[in-house]
Amino acid sequence: MPVPPQLVRLEPQTGTAFVLLGGARLRIVATESEQVADVALFARYDHADSFSPGRTMDYNERLIPQIGDVLYSNRSTPLARVVADTAGVHDLLLTPCSRVMFERRGQLNHPSCHENLSRALGTFGLGEDDVLATLNVFMDVRVEGNAINVYPPASRVDDYFELQAQTDLVVAMCACSSELTNNGRCKSVGYLIYP
Ligand SMILES: [Zn+2]
Repeated sequence: MPVPPQLVRLEPQTGTAFVLLGGARLRIVATESEQVADVALFARYDHADSFSPGRTMDYNERLIPQIGDVLYSNRSTPLARVVADTAGVHDLLLTPCSRVMFERRGQLNHPSCHENLSRALGTFGLGEDDVLATLNVFMDVRVEGNAINVYPPASRVDDYFELQAQTDLVVAMCACSSELTNNGRCKSVGYLIYP
């Protein structure tokens, strides 16, 4: 009997990194409402081939990825496909929150997604300069005129967003560290891997 996958919970303002083999599925689960999960993707055997939100929006011809859409790399490699989604609102426009972003708001030494993802990716020999872009799961970013406005995340408890790897990947994921992005309080997120 196959062992059912276990839900892994990422505590608020923490991150992790792991290998996701081609064909395996990653389900990102809202363990609490209104919390964003930032996800970075790299080809397992060539880390320079990494997730490109720009190519993904270009080839899918939309801002928000939906079921059936492929997430592409900077070299146009299909990295993953969206296979399930109960929330319907995600972001490809903004980079992960960073130490400098918080400094610009006067918040010194604030935890950030960029730092958490970079640290988790250290296991794979990757670091700060490699975390260029993320898929921001459950993040509600709207282009209004020429402004970019962030609204509270669309997720409610037990919502999920699921990707299927199209090739072997290194995945980094974190529970977003920005209070403003997450409607005032940073919370946990969860994930499941279906091998
Ligand atoms: Zn963040």
